[in-house]
Amino acid sequence: MLMADSAGQRAGGQGTGGDQGPEDQGSAHQRSAEDWTGPGLFTVAPGVHRIPLPLPNDGLRAVNVYAIESGDDLVLVDAGWALAETGGLLDEALDRIGRNSAEITRCLVTHVHRDHYTMAVILRRRFGTHVALGIGDRPSLTAAADAGRENMSEHVRRMERAGAEPVIRALRAGFAGALPEPEDLWEQPDEWVKDQATIKLDGRQLRAVATPGHTQGHTVFADLERNLLFAGDHVLPHITPSVGFEAVVAELPLGDYLRSLRLVLELPDMRLLPAHGPVMDTTHARVHALLAHHEDRLSACLDRIGAGAHTAYETALALPWTRRGRRFSELDPFNQMLAVLETGVHLDLLVAQGRLTRESTSPLVSYALPGPAAR
Ligand SMILES: [Zn+2]
Repeated sequence: MLMADSAGQRAGGQGTGGDQGPEDQGSAHQRSAEDWTGPGLFTVAPGVHRIPLPLPNDGLRAVNVYAIESGDDLVLVDAGWALAETGGLLDEALDRIGRNSAEITRCLVTHVHRDHYTMAVILRRRFGTHVALGIGDRPSLTAAADAGRENMSEHVRRMERAGAEPVIRALRAGFAGALPEPEDLWEQPDEWVKDQATIKLDGRQLRAVATPGHTQGHTVFADLERNLLFAGDHVLPHITPSVGFEAVVAELPLGDYLRSLRLVLELPDMRLLPAHGPVMDTTHARVHALLAHHEDRLSACLDRIGAGAHTAYETALALPWTRRGRRFSELDPFNQMLAVLETGVHLDLLVAQGRLTRESTSPLVSYALPGPAAR
């Protein structure tokens, strides 16, 4: 249900394209960038293997887990969504290198969304695997644990402020028939990872870099010696990750996200190992495309407010969505929600930049261009 970025709001323009670079060297059959979701194990660098695992909805199609073999260590970066079949598929994949999931020493999870975190909790229950998560995700994890499920109430409040009552009604109707969550997997990790922490594996070091934005605690892991960036959902090759879709939201999640994108430009240009999509040769090119995309969206939001939209909902209605430029009404209710929240974080950043004003008449928040007096 709570996919991070299934809005699939595609980056405008070309991005880095999906077909550059030798994806998955060492796989028996060269896969095209488009079918990165197929099951198996794909060696992307010496001792580093990409394992796509399934997701229960079709928005993102799969999540890449990366297995790192290093001396006595077998480490996963991200662990997947705890579905009935996930454990079996993970073992089938690891079997190709003569390993199994009982041997996993540690899970480094890039962020708290369920497609990354929940399987780590299952592995810990089964094998005592050590689980690490960025410390900035503590508030959202705690809120989910308190609610016994991923906490939707903050999303609903934000939708009310956005004036998106029709979307709330559609979501409620949809949830009435939704499956109950089988069990609570929102357990605390063994370790809260801090920014710039050095993660020492047997014969290898990773640097944790806090990249708040997608969630407050999102963390990427850089193998600087081997020029690899385990990027989680921070930098995705084909889609723009949602920003601030979590139980406890930062004040300016888009401001955080853009700053975190620039952090990646301060690191060397590395191979991009994303959680969704194929491996790419460059992090920097994709970061430039994502920054340009958000600049475009910010000016598009400004234009729509100038043309008479007042709320985040009205603005979202007037914007094109996904790479194909679909109308808001063509999105399903869940993606409509992501679209409204996404628009809200853009409008709030424009307010912080002084390019819009914001007024609140509880619960509604409305936006306007600054009047002549304010300039
Ligand atoms: Zn994800």
